[in-house]
Amino acid sequence: MATRMANREQLMQRDQVLVPSLPTLAIKGHLCFRCCKSAEKLSKCGACKRAVYCSKGCQVSDWKIAHKNHCKLLKEINVIEEKETAPNRSWDLYRDSLYSKLQWLKSTQDVPPAVQDMIQAQVYCVVCHRSEANTGWSKFASCPSCLRVSTCQTCPAKNSHSEKVCKDNQLFNQLERFLIDCFEHTGEATPAQPTLKPRSTYEPLSIHDSWEKYYKDLSDGAIIDEITTTPGFSLLKPLAPDFEDSVPERIRLHHILGTDVMTMPITILAALEDTIPDLAKKTSLFLHFVGPTSREWRNIALFEELLHLLPALKSLRILCAGPSSYGLIGEDILSQEMDLKCCPDCQKAGRKRSMQSFRGMYHDFVQRAEFSKPDMAVLFHSGRTQAEQSSWAPTTKALLDLGTLTLCTTFNEREAKEEVAELDGFGANVIARLEVNTWRGLMPTPDFLEGPEHGFFYMNYFRYIFQGRK
Ligand SMILES: [Zn+2]
Ligand SMILES: [Zn+2]
Ligand SMILES: [Zn+2]
Ligand SMILES: [Zn+2]
Ligand SMILES: [Zn+2]
Repeated sequence: MATRMANREQLMQRDQVLVPSLPTLAIKGHLCFRCCKSAEKLSKCGACKRAVYCSKGCQVSDWKIAHKNHCKLLKEINVIEEKETAPNRSWDLYRDSLYSKLQWLKSTQDVPPAVQDMIQAQVYCVVCHRSEANTGWSKFASCPSCLRVSTCQTCPAKNSHSEKVCKDNQLFNQLERFLIDCFEHTGEATPAQPTLKPRSTYEPLSIHDSWEKYYKDLSDGAIIDEITTTPGFSLLKPLAPDFEDSVPERIRLHHILGTDVMTMPITILAALEDTIPDLAKKTSLFLHFVGPTSREWRNIALFEELLHLLPALKSLRILCAGPSSYGLIGEDILSQEMDLKCCPDCQKAGRKRSMQSFRGMYHDFVQRAEFSKPDMAVLFHSGRTQAEQSSWAPTTKALLDLGTLTLCTTFNEREAKEEVAELDGFGANVIARLEVNTWRGLMPTPDFLEGPEHGFFYMNYFRYIFQGRK
Protein backbone atom coordinates (compact mmCIF):
# COMPACT_ATOMS: atom_id res chain seq x y z
CA MET A 1 0.00 0.00 0.00
CA ALA A 2 1.37 3.39 -0.97
CA THR A 3 1.92 5.60 2.01
CA ARG A 4 1.52 9.36 2.21
CA MET A 5 5.26 9.76 2.51
CA ALA A 6 5.85 7.66 -0.61
CA ASN A 7 3.47 9.97 -2.46
CA ARG A 8 4.66 13.23 -0.90
CA GLU A 9 5.48 15.06 -4.15
CA GLN A 10 2.09 14.27 -5.72
CA LEU A 11 0.24 15.29 -2.55
CA MET A 12 2.11 18.57 -2.47
CA GLN A 13 1.29 19.31 -6.10
CA ARG A 14 -2.29 18.16 -6.02
CA ASP A 15 -3.43 19.45 -2.64
CA GLN A 16 -1.05 22.40 -2.23
CA VAL A 17 -0.08 21.17 1.22
CA LEU A 18 3.22 21.14 3.05
CA VAL A 19 4.83 17.71 3.16
CA PRO A 20 7.91 16.60 5.10
CA SER A 21 11.10 16.76 3.10
CA LEU A 22 13.42 13.79 2.64
CA PRO A 23 14.64 13.00 6.18
CA THR A 24 18.34 13.63 6.70
CA LEU A 25 18.46 10.19 8.31
CA ALA A 26 17.70 8.81 4.83
CA ILE A 27 20.55 10.87 3.38
CA LYS A 28 22.79 9.37 6.06
CA GLY A 29 21.82 5.94 4.70
CA HIS A 30 19.40 4.74 7.40
CA LEU A 31 15.93 5.21 5.86
CA CYS A 32 14.51 4.36 2.44
CA PHE A 33 14.56 7.37 0.09
CA ARG A 34 11.00 6.69 -1.13
CA CYS A 35 8.89 5.38 1.78
CA CYS A 36 11.25 6.83 4.45
CA LYS A 37 10.99 3.69 6.57
CA SER A 38 13.89 1.84 8.10
CA ALA A 39 14.62 -1.70 7.00
CA GLU A 40 16.97 -4.48 7.96
CA LYS A 41 18.80 -4.12 4.69
CA LEU A 42 18.80 -1.04 2.49
CA SER A 43 20.37 -1.25 -0.96
CA LYS A 44 22.14 1.61 -2.69
CA CYS A 45 21.53 3.09 -6.11
CA GLY A 46 24.41 1.66 -8.12
CA ALA A 47 24.92 4.85 -10.11
CA CYS A 48 25.24 7.58 -7.46
CA LYS A 49 25.89 5.27 -4.47
CA ARG A 50 23.91 7.67 -2.29
CA ALA A 51 20.18 6.89 -2.49
CA VAL A 52 19.15 3.81 -0.50
CA TYR A 53 16.02 1.68 -0.76
CA CYS A 54 14.12 -0.88 1.24
CA SER A 55 12.81 -2.67 -1.86
CA LYS A 56 12.96 -2.85 -5.62
CA GLY A 57 9.45 -1.34 -5.70
CA CYS A 58 10.56 1.76 -3.79
CA GLN A 59 13.61 2.14 -6.01
CA VAL A 60 11.59 1.93 -9.23
CA SER A 61 8.99 4.36 -7.97
CA ASP A 62 11.60 6.80 -6.62
CA TRP A 63 13.40 6.72 -9.97
CA LYS A 64 10.21 7.76 -11.76
CA ILE A 65 9.19 10.43 -9.25
CA ALA A 66 12.49 12.01 -8.30
CA HIS A 67 15.74 10.15 -8.52
CA LYS A 68 15.94 10.15 -12.33
CA ASN A 69 16.63 13.88 -12.09
CA HIS A 70 18.66 13.73 -8.88
CA CYS A 71 21.03 10.86 -9.67
CA LYS A 72 22.98 12.62 -12.41
CA LEU A 73 23.52 15.71 -10.27
CA LEU A 74 24.87 13.60 -7.41
CA LYS A 75 27.18 11.81 -9.83
CA GLU A 76 28.68 15.14 -10.89
CA ILE A 77 29.66 15.83 -7.29
CA ASN A 78 30.99 12.27 -6.97
CA VAL A 79 33.26 12.74 -9.99
CA ILE A 80 34.95 15.74 -8.34
CA GLU A 81 35.20 14.13 -4.91
CA GLU A 82 36.65 10.91 -6.26
CA LYS A 83 39.58 12.96 -7.57
CA GLU A 84 40.24 14.66 -4.23
CA THR A 85 42.96 12.67 -2.51
CA ALA A 86 44.05 14.73 0.52
CA PRO A 87 44.31 12.12 3.32
CA ASN A 88 43.20 14.45 6.09
CA ARG A 89 41.58 17.85 6.45
CA SER A 90 39.84 20.06 8.98
CA TRP A 91 36.08 20.48 9.26
CA ASP A 92 36.36 24.03 7.95
CA LEU A 93 38.17 22.87 4.82
CA TYR A 94 35.71 20.04 4.25
CA ARG A 95 32.71 22.35 4.73
CA ASP A 96 34.05 25.15 2.55
CA SER A 97 35.02 22.76 -0.21
CA LEU A 98 31.59 21.10 -0.14
CA TYR A 99 29.97 24.53 -0.19
CA SER A 100 31.91 25.60 -3.27
CA LYS A 101 31.12 22.35 -5.07
CA LEU A 102 27.44 22.95 -4.39
CA GLN A 103 27.68 26.57 -5.57
CA TRP A 104 29.43 25.42 -8.73
CA LEU A 105 26.70 22.84 -9.43
CA LYS A 106 24.03 25.48 -8.89
CA SER A 107 25.78 27.80 -11.31
CA THR A 108 25.63 25.18 -14.06
CA GLN A 109 22.02 24.03 -13.69
CA ASP A 110 18.88 23.97 -11.62
CA VAL A 111 19.52 22.00 -8.42
CA PRO A 112 16.33 20.94 -6.56
CA PRO A 113 16.33 21.61 -2.79
CA ALA A 114 16.23 17.84 -2.12
CA VAL A 115 19.53 17.41 -3.98
CA GLN A 116 21.09 20.32 -2.11
CA ASP A 117 20.10 18.52 1.10
CA MET A 118 21.58 15.26 -0.18
CA ILE A 119 24.88 16.97 -0.89
CA GLN A 120 25.22 19.05 2.24
CA ALA A 121 24.12 16.28 4.62
CA GLN A 122 26.22 13.61 2.90
CA VAL A 123 28.06 10.96 4.91
CA TYR A 124 31.63 11.95 5.77
CA CYS A 125 34.24 10.83 8.28
CA VAL A 126 34.25 13.13 11.33
CA VAL A 127 37.95 12.41 11.97
CA CYS A 128 39.67 12.87 8.59
CA HIS A 129 36.78 14.79 6.97
CA ARG A 130 36.71 12.76 3.82
CA SER A 131 33.48 11.76 2.10
CA GLU A 132 32.75 8.22 0.96
CA ALA A 133 33.67 9.27 -2.59
CA ASN A 134 37.01 10.68 -1.31
CA THR A 135 37.95 7.31 0.08
CA GLY A 136 37.06 5.37 -3.06
CA TRP A 137 33.70 4.34 -1.56
CA SER A 138 35.07 2.35 1.33
CA LYS A 139 32.62 1.24 3.96
CA PHE A 140 31.91 3.78 6.72
CA ALA A 141 30.70 2.98 10.22
CA SER A 142 28.06 5.12 11.93
CA CYS A 143 27.55 5.80 15.63
CA PRO A 144 25.13 3.10 16.83
CA SER A 145 23.34 5.57 19.11
CA CYS A 146 22.68 8.55 16.87
CA LEU A 147 23.44 7.08 13.42
CA ARG A 148 24.37 10.54 12.18
CA VAL A 149 28.10 10.56 12.83
CA SER A 150 30.34 8.36 10.71
CA THR A 151 33.96 7.33 10.53
CA CYS A 152 35.92 5.79 7.68
CA GLN A 153 37.74 2.46 7.90
CA THR A 154 41.06 3.98 8.88
CA CYS A 155 39.89 6.39 11.59
CA PRO A 156 38.96 5.49 15.17
CA ALA A 157 35.25 5.62 15.95
CA LYS A 158 35.86 6.13 19.65
CA ASN A 159 35.23 9.64 21.04
CA SER A 160 34.37 10.92 17.57
CA HIS A 161 31.70 13.24 18.99
CA SER A 162 30.53 14.52 22.35
CA GLU A 163 27.73 13.11 24.45
CA LYS A 164 25.80 16.38 23.95
CA VAL A 165 26.02 16.17 20.16
CA CYS A 166 24.98 12.52 20.25
CA LYS A 167 21.96 13.36 22.44
CA ASP A 168 20.89 16.31 20.23
CA ASN A 169 21.23 14.06 17.20
CA GLN A 170 19.08 11.42 18.86
CA LEU A 171 16.39 13.97 19.63
CA PHE A 172 16.47 15.18 16.05
CA ASN A 173 16.15 11.59 14.79
CA GLN A 174 13.21 10.98 17.08
CA LEU A 175 11.51 14.14 15.86
CA GLU A 176 12.24 13.37 12.21
CA ARG A 177 10.72 9.90 12.60
CA PHE A 178 7.78 11.17 14.62
CA LEU A 179 7.02 13.82 12.01
CA ILE A 180 6.82 11.18 9.29
CA ASP A 181 4.61 9.08 11.51
CA CYS A 182 2.33 12.05 12.16
CA PHE A 183 2.17 12.81 8.47
CA GLU A 184 1.24 9.22 7.65
CA HIS A 185 -1.58 9.28 10.18
CA THR A 186 -2.94 12.79 9.76
CA GLY A 187 -1.54 14.28 6.54
CA GLU A 188 -0.24 17.12 8.70
CA ALA A 189 3.38 18.09 8.11
CA THR A 190 3.51 20.84 10.70
CA PRO A 191 1.73 19.52 13.79
CA ALA A 192 0.90 22.34 16.15
CA GLN A 193 -0.77 22.68 19.49
CA PRO A 194 -2.33 26.15 19.55
CA THR A 195 -4.59 27.54 22.27
CA LEU A 196 -8.01 26.26 21.29
CA LYS A 197 -10.22 28.28 23.58
CA PRO A 198 -9.78 32.07 23.75
CA ARG A 199 -8.56 33.20 27.16
CA SER A 200 -10.85 35.43 29.20
CA THR A 201 -7.97 37.06 31.06
CA TYR A 202 -4.71 38.42 29.77
CA GLU A 203 -1.56 36.95 31.20
CA PRO A 204 1.77 38.20 29.91
CA LEU A 205 4.18 35.75 28.36
CA SER A 206 6.88 37.30 30.51
CA ILE A 207 5.51 35.48 33.55
CA HIS A 208 5.20 32.19 31.68
CA ASP A 209 8.62 32.38 30.12
CA SER A 210 9.18 28.90 28.74
CA TRP A 211 7.36 26.57 26.38
CA GLU A 212 6.66 24.21 29.29
CA LYS A 213 4.85 26.99 31.15
CA TYR A 214 3.12 28.17 28.00
CA TYR A 215 1.68 24.71 27.35
CA LYS A 216 0.87 24.08 30.97
CA ASP A 217 -0.38 27.41 32.34
CA LEU A 218 -1.17 29.74 29.47
CA SER A 219 -2.50 27.59 26.67
CA ASP A 220 -5.36 25.10 27.13
CA GLY A 221 -2.84 22.69 28.57
CA ALA A 222 -5.23 19.85 29.21
CA ILE A 223 -3.52 17.48 26.84
CA ILE A 224 -0.12 18.02 28.37
CA ASP A 225 -1.26 17.58 32.00
CA GLU A 226 -0.62 13.90 31.73
CA ILE A 227 3.08 14.44 31.18
CA THR A 228 3.80 17.70 33.00
CA THR A 229 3.01 16.04 36.31
CA THR A 230 6.21 14.02 35.86
CA PRO A 231 8.67 15.50 38.38
CA GLY A 232 11.31 17.72 36.76
CA PHE A 233 9.42 17.68 33.48
CA SER A 234 11.16 19.33 30.54
CA LEU A 235 10.04 19.10 26.94
CA LEU A 236 13.62 18.36 25.96
CA LYS A 237 14.08 15.48 28.36
CA PRO A 238 12.80 12.06 27.29
CA LEU A 239 10.32 10.79 29.83
CA ALA A 240 12.12 7.45 30.04
CA PRO A 241 14.30 5.55 27.63
CA ASP A 242 11.67 2.92 26.99
CA PHE A 243 8.89 5.45 26.50
CA GLU A 244 9.64 5.92 22.79
CA ASP A 245 6.24 4.75 21.61
CA SER A 246 4.22 5.48 24.72
CA VAL A 247 1.42 8.01 24.60
CA PRO A 248 3.13 10.54 26.92
CA GLU A 249 6.32 10.40 24.88
CA ARG A 250 4.35 10.97 21.68
CA ILE A 251 2.63 13.93 23.30
CA ARG A 252 6.03 15.33 24.25
CA LEU A 253 7.36 14.98 20.70
CA HIS A 254 4.18 16.50 19.29
CA HIS A 255 4.59 19.53 21.53
CA ILE A 256 8.24 19.99 20.57
CA LEU A 257 7.33 19.87 16.88
CA GLY A 258 4.51 22.29 17.65
CA THR A 259 6.97 24.90 18.84
CA ASP A 260 8.52 24.92 15.39
CA VAL A 261 5.45 26.69 13.99
CA MET A 262 3.94 28.15 17.18
CA THR A 263 7.17 30.10 17.48
CA MET A 264 5.73 32.47 14.88
CA PRO A 265 2.68 33.86 16.73
CA ILE A 266 4.31 33.61 20.14
CA THR A 267 7.51 35.39 19.09
CA ILE A 268 5.30 38.18 17.72
CA LEU A 269 3.27 38.36 20.92
CA ALA A 270 6.41 38.55 23.06
CA ALA A 271 7.76 41.40 20.91
CA LEU A 272 4.44 43.26 21.15
CA GLU A 273 4.49 42.85 24.92
CA ASP A 274 8.00 44.22 25.09
CA THR A 275 7.25 47.30 23.02
CA ILE A 276 3.57 48.30 23.22
CA PRO A 277 2.67 49.54 26.74
CA ASP A 278 -1.11 49.14 26.52
CA LEU A 279 -1.11 45.88 24.62
CA ALA A 280 -3.71 44.28 26.88
CA LYS A 281 -6.19 47.07 26.05
CA LYS A 282 -5.62 47.09 22.32
CA THR A 283 -8.70 46.19 20.29
CA SER A 284 -7.12 45.96 16.86
CA LEU A 285 -3.80 44.78 15.58
CA PHE A 286 -2.29 45.26 12.13
CA LEU A 287 0.83 43.29 11.19
CA HIS A 288 2.98 43.32 8.07
CA PHE A 289 4.88 40.14 7.24
CA VAL A 290 7.77 41.32 5.12
CA GLY A 291 9.28 38.82 2.67
CA PRO A 292 7.26 35.87 4.00
CA THR A 293 7.72 32.34 2.72
CA SER A 294 5.19 29.55 2.38
CA ARG A 295 5.86 28.83 6.06
CA GLU A 296 3.99 31.93 7.13
CA TRP A 297 1.03 31.80 4.80
CA ARG A 298 0.49 28.05 4.95
CA ASN A 299 0.30 28.40 8.72
CA ILE A 300 -1.75 31.59 8.65
CA ALA A 301 -4.55 29.95 10.68
CA LEU A 302 -2.18 29.68 13.66
CA PHE A 303 -2.03 33.44 14.09
CA GLU A 304 -5.53 33.26 15.57
CA GLU A 305 -3.45 32.46 18.64
CA LEU A 306 -2.99 36.22 19.08
CA LEU A 307 -6.77 36.63 19.40
CA HIS A 308 -6.86 33.76 21.86
CA LEU A 309 -4.19 35.16 24.16
CA LEU A 310 -5.22 38.83 23.95
CA PRO A 311 -8.82 38.91 25.20
CA ALA A 312 -9.45 42.60 24.33
CA LEU A 313 -8.47 42.15 20.71
CA LYS A 314 -11.37 42.33 18.23
CA SER A 315 -9.60 42.59 14.93
CA LEU A 316 -6.39 41.08 13.58
CA ARG A 317 -5.21 42.09 10.12
CA ILE A 318 -2.17 40.55 8.48
CA LEU A 319 -0.63 41.79 5.27
CA CYS A 320 2.03 39.65 3.59
CA ALA A 321 4.33 41.57 1.27
CA GLY A 322 7.23 40.11 -0.65
CA PRO A 323 8.36 38.82 -4.02
CA SER A 324 6.86 35.38 -3.45
CA SER A 325 3.74 36.42 -1.63
CA TYR A 326 0.85 34.03 -1.56
CA GLY A 327 -1.49 33.20 -4.39
CA LEU A 328 -0.53 36.03 -6.70
CA ILE A 329 1.17 35.87 -10.07
CA GLY A 330 3.00 38.84 -11.50
CA GLU A 331 4.63 41.82 -9.86
CA ASP A 332 3.26 44.71 -7.82
CA ILE A 333 -0.15 43.16 -7.31
CA LEU A 334 -2.20 43.79 -4.20
CA SER A 335 -4.91 41.25 -3.40
CA GLN A 336 -8.30 41.97 -1.89
CA GLU A 337 -8.43 41.82 1.88
CA MET A 338 -9.79 38.35 2.64
CA ASP A 339 -11.71 37.56 5.80
CA LEU A 340 -10.39 34.43 7.46
CA LYS A 341 -12.68 32.23 9.46
CA CYS A 342 -12.41 32.46 13.23
CA CYS A 343 -13.27 29.72 15.70
CA PRO A 344 -16.88 29.62 17.02
CA ASP A 345 -15.90 31.38 20.28
CA CYS A 346 -14.25 34.27 18.44
CA GLN A 347 -17.20 34.52 16.05
CA LYS A 348 -19.58 34.77 18.99
CA ALA A 349 -17.43 37.54 20.44
CA GLY A 350 -17.60 39.38 17.10
CA ARG A 351 -13.90 39.08 16.38
CA LYS A 352 -12.51 39.30 12.91
CA ARG A 353 -9.27 38.45 11.22
CA SER A 354 -8.18 39.07 7.69
CA MET A 355 -5.28 38.59 5.35
CA GLN A 356 -4.05 40.54 2.37
CA SER A 357 -1.16 39.90 0.08
CA PHE A 358 1.15 42.11 -1.97
CA ARG A 359 3.46 40.49 -4.48
CA GLY A 360 6.50 42.66 -5.00
CA MET A 361 9.12 44.52 -3.04
CA TYR A 362 8.07 45.93 0.30
CA HIS A 363 9.81 49.25 -0.44
CA ASP A 364 7.64 49.55 -3.57
CA PHE A 365 4.55 48.73 -1.58
CA VAL A 366 5.13 51.53 0.93
CA GLN A 367 4.89 54.03 -1.96
CA ARG A 368 1.38 52.95 -2.86
CA ALA A 369 -1.78 54.81 -1.88
CA GLU A 370 -3.14 51.66 -0.20
CA PHE A 371 -0.21 51.53 2.23
CA SER A 372 -0.82 52.29 5.87
CA LYS A 373 1.59 51.84 8.73
CA PRO A 374 1.23 48.61 10.72
CA ASP A 375 1.56 48.20 14.48
CA MET A 376 4.55 46.02 13.74
CA ALA A 377 6.45 44.67 10.75
CA VAL A 378 7.76 41.11 11.07
CA LEU A 379 10.75 39.66 9.21
CA PHE A 380 11.20 35.99 10.05
CA HIS A 381 14.61 34.71 8.88
CA SER A 382 14.94 37.32 6.19
CA GLY A 383 18.66 36.68 5.80
CA ARG A 384 18.83 40.40 4.99
CA THR A 385 22.60 40.52 4.89
CA GLN A 386 23.00 37.19 3.07
CA ALA A 387 21.65 36.58 -0.43
CA GLU A 388 19.82 39.42 -2.16
CA GLN A 389 21.34 42.02 0.09
CA SER A 390 20.84 44.69 -2.55
CA SER A 391 17.07 44.17 -2.62
CA TRP A 392 16.77 44.06 1.17
CA ALA A 393 18.66 47.30 1.85
CA PRO A 394 15.94 49.58 0.36
CA THR A 395 13.31 47.70 2.40
CA THR A 396 15.31 48.13 5.61
CA LYS A 397 15.69 51.84 4.84
CA ALA A 398 11.96 52.18 4.15
CA LEU A 399 11.15 50.59 7.53
CA LEU A 400 13.60 52.96 9.22
CA ASP A 401 12.28 56.06 7.38
CA LEU A 402 8.71 55.24 8.37
CA GLY A 403 9.71 54.56 11.97
CA THR A 404 7.94 51.20 11.81
CA LEU A 405 8.32 48.97 14.85
CA THR A 406 10.10 45.96 13.34
CA LEU A 407 10.75 42.48 14.69
CA CYS A 408 13.40 40.32 13.00
CA THR A 409 14.56 36.78 13.64
CA THR A 410 17.45 34.67 12.39
CA PHE A 411 18.43 31.00 12.34
CA ASN A 412 21.77 31.59 14.04
CA GLU A 413 23.90 34.09 15.92
CA ARG A 414 26.20 35.01 13.05
CA GLU A 415 23.29 36.22 10.89
CA ALA A 416 21.85 38.19 13.79
CA LYS A 417 25.20 39.90 14.42
CA GLU A 418 25.61 40.86 10.78
CA GLU A 419 22.10 42.21 10.54
CA VAL A 420 22.34 44.29 13.71
CA ALA A 421 25.70 45.65 12.54
CA GLU A 422 24.06 46.72 9.29
CA LEU A 423 21.29 48.47 11.25
CA ASP A 424 23.87 50.28 13.38
CA GLY A 425 25.44 51.44 10.13
CA PHE A 426 22.08 52.92 9.12
CA GLY A 427 21.84 54.72 12.49
CA ALA A 428 18.86 52.61 13.57
CA ASN A 429 17.31 52.78 17.00
CA VAL A 430 17.74 49.14 18.03
CA ILE A 431 15.41 48.40 20.95
CA ALA A 432 16.33 44.78 21.56
CA ARG A 433 19.58 43.52 20.16
CA LEU A 434 20.95 40.04 19.69
CA GLU A 435 18.78 38.11 22.05
CA VAL A 436 18.34 34.37 22.12
CA ASN A 437 14.60 34.13 21.57
CA THR A 438 12.81 32.47 24.49
CA TRP A 439 10.14 31.46 22.00
CA ARG A 440 12.38 29.85 19.39
CA GLY A 441 11.39 26.48 17.97
CA LEU A 442 12.76 23.66 20.13
CA MET A 443 13.65 21.33 17.30
CA PRO A 444 17.44 21.28 16.87
CA THR A 445 18.03 21.19 13.13
CA PRO A 446 21.51 20.29 11.88
CA ASP A 447 23.35 23.20 10.31
CA PHE A 448 25.42 21.44 7.67
CA LEU A 449 27.27 24.10 5.76
CA GLU A 450 27.40 26.86 8.37
CA GLY A 451 29.52 27.41 11.40
CA PRO A 452 31.12 24.75 13.59
CA GLU A 453 30.85 21.02 13.06
CA HIS A 454 27.73 19.39 14.54
CA GLY A 455 26.05 22.82 14.86
CA PHE A 456 22.29 23.21 15.07
CA PHE A 457 19.94 25.99 14.18
CA TYR A 458 16.46 26.67 15.50
CA MET A 459 13.42 28.43 14.09
CA ASN A 460 13.53 32.08 15.19
CA TYR A 461 16.65 31.31 17.24
CA PHE A 462 17.73 34.94 17.67
CA ARG A 463 15.59 38.04 17.64
CA TYR A 464 16.09 41.78 17.56
CA ILE A 465 13.72 44.71 17.38
CA PHE A 466 14.21 48.19 15.95
CA GLN A 467 12.16 51.31 15.40
CA GLY A 468 13.22 54.33 13.36
CA ARG A 469 16.56 56.07 13.70
CA LYS A 470 18.34 57.45 16.72
ZN1 LIG B 1 10.92 1.93 0.85
ZN1 LIG C 1 21.41 7.31 -7.96
ZN1 LIG D 1 38.53 9.03 8.40
ZN1 LIG E 1 26.26 9.47 18.27
ZN1 LIG F 1 -10.79 31.95 17.96
